Amino acid sequence: MTKDKFVFPADKLGVEEEYLPAEGTYLENHEIKAAIFGEAFLDREHYKATVFSKGGKAKIPHVGEIVVGVVQQVRKVSLAMEVHFLGEEEVFPPYSGVLHISNASRDFTSSMDELYASGDIVRAKVVDAKTVPIQLETKGINLGVIYSLCQKCGSITEKISKDKLQCTNCNLVQLRKTAIDYGKGILID
Ligand SMILES: [Zn+2]
Repeated sequence: MTKDKFVFPADKLGVEEEYLPAEGTYLENHEIKAAIFGEAFLDREHYKATVFSKGGKAKIPHVGEIVVGVVQQVRKVSLAMEVHFLGEEEVFPPYSGVLHISNASRDFTSSMDELYASGDIVRAKVVDAKTVPIQLETKGINLGVIYSLCQKCGSITEKISKDKLQCTNCNLVQLRKTAIDYGKGILID
């Protein structure tokens, strides 16, 4: 086993003909790439490429896994998120995630800013973990915004209906795709 070097997500480790993608890696266009920040091990004997996270065992996202992140940037048809929790486990550095409008809600929506705003804390499900950023969805009733501050005054907001939040200070009402347990924390009961 060859001890290699520190690598960043999306760094190329080798090609498909040389290695099998193991923990902490993924395959893209016949190339083995790092999925996480960590130390790369290229096992030439068993044709295996692995990346171990600096903190110990590599914690990598899987399809179907519930994650929690903070919305960074909202565009018309997608948004970018920093994913800080995989299941109940905090990950550092965070994963980059993307949510497309077609995966955001069961209801028809013409623009992502009717559902989310930057700074929202969102619970989502992983639909594709083999890409950087990972692909997310929030259609389920337990998925969506779980915590959001008023865009006008920064105060705490309360859920007043399925898709509406109201500021406890200035009473501003904002539309959101909320999780059913909005305001109750990151975990699902
Ligand atoms: Zn307010």
